[in-house]
Amino acid sequence: MTDTSKLIVGRTGSWEIVLGLEIHAQVASKAKLFSGAAVGFGAGPNEQVSLVDAAMPGMLPVINRFCVEQAVKTGLGLKAQINLRSSFDRKNYFYPDLPQGYQISQFKDPVVGEGEVIVEHDDGSTFTVRIERLHLEQDAGKSLHDQDPNATYVDLNRAGTALMEIVSKPDMRSSAEAAAYVKKVRTILVYLGTCDGDMEKGNLRADVNVSVCRPGAYEKFRETGDFSHLGTRCEIKNVNSYRYIQQAIEYEARRQIEIIEDGGSITQETRLFDPTKLETRSMRSKEEAHDYRYFPDPDLLPLILDPVWVKKIQDSLPELPDAKKARLQTQYGLSAYDAGVLITEQARADFFEGAAKGRDAKLTSNWVTNELAARLTAAGQDIEDSPLKPGDIAELVALIEEGVISSKIAKDVFDRMWAGEGGARAIVEKQGLQQVSDTGALEAMIDKLIAANPGQAAAVKEKPQAIGWFVGQLMKETGGKANPGTVNQLLKAKLGID
Ligand code: ADP
Ligand code: MG
Repeated sequence: MTDTSKLIVGRTGSWEIVLGLEIHAQVASKAKLFSGAAVGFGAGPNEQVSLVDAAMPGMLPVINRFCVEQAVKTGLGLKAQINLRSSFDRKNYFYPDLPQGYQISQFKDPVVGEGEVIVEHDDGSTFTVRIERLHLEQDAGKSLHDQDPNATYVDLNRAGTALMEIVSKPDMRSSAEAAAYVKKVRTILVYLGTCDGDMEKGNLRADVNVSVCRPGAYEKFRETGDFSHLGTRCEIKNVNSYRYIQQAIEYEARRQIEIIEDGGSITQETRLFDPTKLETRSMRSKEEAHDYRYFPDPDLLPLILDPVWVKKIQDSLPELPDAKKARLQTQYGLSAYDAGVLITEQARADFFEGAAKGRDAKLTSNWVTNELAARLTAAGQDIEDSPLKPGDIAELVALIEEGVISSKIAKDVFDRMWAGEGGARAIVEKQGLQQVSDTGALEAMIDKLIAANPGQAAAVKEKPQAIGWFVGQLMKETGGKANPGTVNQLLKAKLGID
């Protein structure tokens, strides 16, 4: 456990960070959680509001079966317990963008219980984050303060939209781990199709709980389950990018350490991250925290799931990231790292599999995750819309494998392919980019080179590494097209070294 944590050195010794996240993921549903109103981005203000969403008196919520199915699917994808009986509670508070005066959520009995997520570190190694629960709840509307200095407008389009709140245990130990966790959960949700994962639109966002403690304290918490071993946490609300998550955590941990080292103590509170100032600031403290007076929603019956239905959902799950990663490793002999990079996007893994047919898998993976990915990013394109298809990369890799072109020339061929000059083989032929493996031609060049540079030749006999100079000369002469293996072999023979 300790090896994944990151020590922060303060004035009075070392500190560790402890992080627990609450991810809010909007369900990819065309309709809201308790009404038939449409869910969509870009509609005009209050165009997608039913009488239920506007909380007109006497309107009754009706649960959207599709949203429940997405929550169950997600729970199964998080290897979590599905609760066949769950219920909805009212979380009461007043806010202009919440016309009901309460949010319908699942407080006591969530639809999904404990699960776990395997998360990749940057170096390909993994750690596990335990999931505490997943529950369904409604989103609120939006208050718009910036349009008019004298008024606040309310847009209820988002009111009643279905959210899945995924609560983790406090199992992350650094800002990088928190970001990697959100990335992995997002990948799983997108594979499942239960959330589109669009963080820019706020369709996936996280509340980040941060506390700090001395080395050793976290291990005591894990042994005993006793939270009193941990420091007091602050919750940073609604962070919607990986970068902001990391920046908010870094700032918040340092703020807490400074307070404690100055002899103060942390008050549990809700804070907001300001991405322009790169700092968090208090939104409300625990004393000001609402008493939500949760109670079961009398308008909604308990949610009872049929185990046969759950089993059917289980059987229809797609191959998920971890399974795909394991399969790519065994089927193609890829490293955990390479497989891990490929599976971050389903379309990327699919592209790889389309290109790897019978070809050098490692080489194919490199071209897909390096050159192609870089080009697509620079062009702002998704791999689904890539102008180069899996077959194009396969052709390029085949040429390298067959020794027709070197990896260096392959980059040039790739550039030309990207520029639309045609397929790899056609480009190589048209531009005469084949490697020179013709020993006769190479031998003649070598003879000439040795004759013209007797000093260099003598030096190589003394110091075999000096052969590099000759290799360089030949590469220059052939415009990089000489087969380096052949060149080395011939040179050694001619210079009488082995
Ligand atoms: P609440 O219902 O008040 O939000 P929870 O117990 O549900 O409180 O915890 C919310 C989140 O805070 C969870 O993700 C949990 O892992 C995390 N958390 C709890 N205690 C700590 C702590 N000391 N440090 C960091 N995160 C914590
Ligand atoms: Mg909470």
